[in-house]
Amino acid sequence: MSADGIDFDVVIVGSGVVGATAAALLARHGRVPAARIALLAPDAQPSVASASDGEPQLRVSAISPASRKVLQQADAWQRMDERRLCAYECMRVWHESMPPDGLATLAFDAAELALPELGFIVENAVLTRAALASFAEAGGRLLATTLQSLSGGDQAMRLETAAGEYRARLVAGADGAQSLVRTQLQIPVRNHAYLQQAIIATVGTARPHQHTAWQRFLASGPLALLPLFDGSSSLVWSVSDELAAELMALSPELFQARLEIASDAVLGRITLKSQRAAIPLQRATATDLIAPRVALIGDAAHQVHPLAGQGVNLGLLDAASLCEAVADAVSEREDPGALRALRRYEQQRRTHDTLISWTMSAFNTLFSQGGAAGWAAARMLGIAGVTGVGRRLLARRAMGLEGELPRLAR
Ligand SMILES: Cc1cc2nc3c(=O)[nH]c(=O)nc-3n(C[C@H](O)[C@H](O)[C@H](O)COP(=O)(O)OP(=O)(O)OC[C@H]3O[C@@H](n4cnc5c(N)ncnc54)[C@H](O)[C@@H]3O)c2cc1C
Repeated sequence: MSADGIDFDVVIVGSGVVGATAAALLARHGRVPAARIALLAPDAQPSVASASDGEPQLRVSAISPASRKVLQQADAWQRMDERRLCAYECMRVWHESMPPDGLATLAFDAAELALPELGFIVENAVLTRAALASFAEAGGRLLATTLQSLSGGDQAMRLETAAGEYRARLVAGADGAQSLVRTQLQIPVRNHAYLQQAIIATVGTARPHQHTAWQRFLASGPLALLPLFDGSSSLVWSVSDELAAELMALSPELFQARLEIASDAVLGRITLKSQRAAIPLQRATATDLIAPRVALIGDAAHQVHPLAGQGVNLGLLDAASLCEAVADAVSEREDPGALRALRRYEQQRRTHDTLISWTMSAFNTLFSQGGAAGWAAARMLGIAGVTGVGRRLLARRAMGLEGELPRLAR
């Protein structure tokens, strides 16, 4: 504790992918001593098979090139077991009214963009573990406890935790969709329930995944098969609440048969290799990303539809942007929780996050339609697909290679 009774310059609440990466970034680039940064990490040791032949975990993320740069700056990417990463070089997106190899398929290829890959599919636990290790090695303080309440003051925020009380100049709320930091500060959220759930599972396929991310838009919602390091694929199948209940209740054999039809058998016969899980989906946006001495990052600030795999990617850009705002404030001899610094963070992230969130929702609404509307959407997909310039622009934006980016992501 410093002479003024303040324990930490920054406390990050929540050690998911976003919180752990924010902690590692701040410890390495935030211009505050690492020992003055704490991470509240109730689940600090995410279990993940360390051997390369361990079964893939259910929660995975498509990591964009911009996110990879952020993870490299956090010294987390370098710590991941390469054998558990799967590069994807192509993306195929098509509507149910068209065949997967038809003219109206939207196809992105890394080679066309002169890139070695479009991104990587990585288990969330692998990402988190690497970021936590980086933070701990830099000298940051891992506190294996949960936040219970938060209150403000002129000089510092007061955090009541299961392990005692702490005071911090800045609190980063990275505590996910049900953020206690956000509710304690009474920051309202704009919610839109999709009335959909994502069924996730690991599946084996008769044909190899070809290092390609496959996505089919059905009237019932989008279905994605993402390539994994061991040759299997990660299923993310978004359907209505009713259909989710029906599909989850099916025997593995009947589920596999339904999945094969829904995926247009693009990879042939499908075999379930894990349990299934159903995750309710919603779009949620906090009306403010900041409050005095507090910033929200990741799902605590915004939740988006998983159809384009952008949630973690947005959160990592939030983490990078907040780290830069803190570093800039400190180098200008300001307090790391100064409102001016937080406003910089909010300005940089607000437009980008909102744009992605609304685009994902519009895509979901437009393409998840049958009949004439669905057909028209498929034609649009086709037009985007045949227009090389449009396609490249779309791909570059989705990969975080266009638009205003934090320095740590460039
Ligand atoms: C099916 C599905 C597929 C997805 N696929 C992708 C994808 O391909 N690419 C992508 O970019 N995104 C994807 N996403 C989105 C992505 O998973 C989320 O955006 C991301 O995990 C959010 O990370 P986070 O660290 O902000 O929050 P979380 O992962 O929710 O972590 C929050 C952390 O805070 C902790 N916490 C909560 N309360 C407290 C407290 N009171 N005190 C201390 N700690 C607390 C929790 O224990 C947890 O560790 C997908 C989402 C879904 C549902």
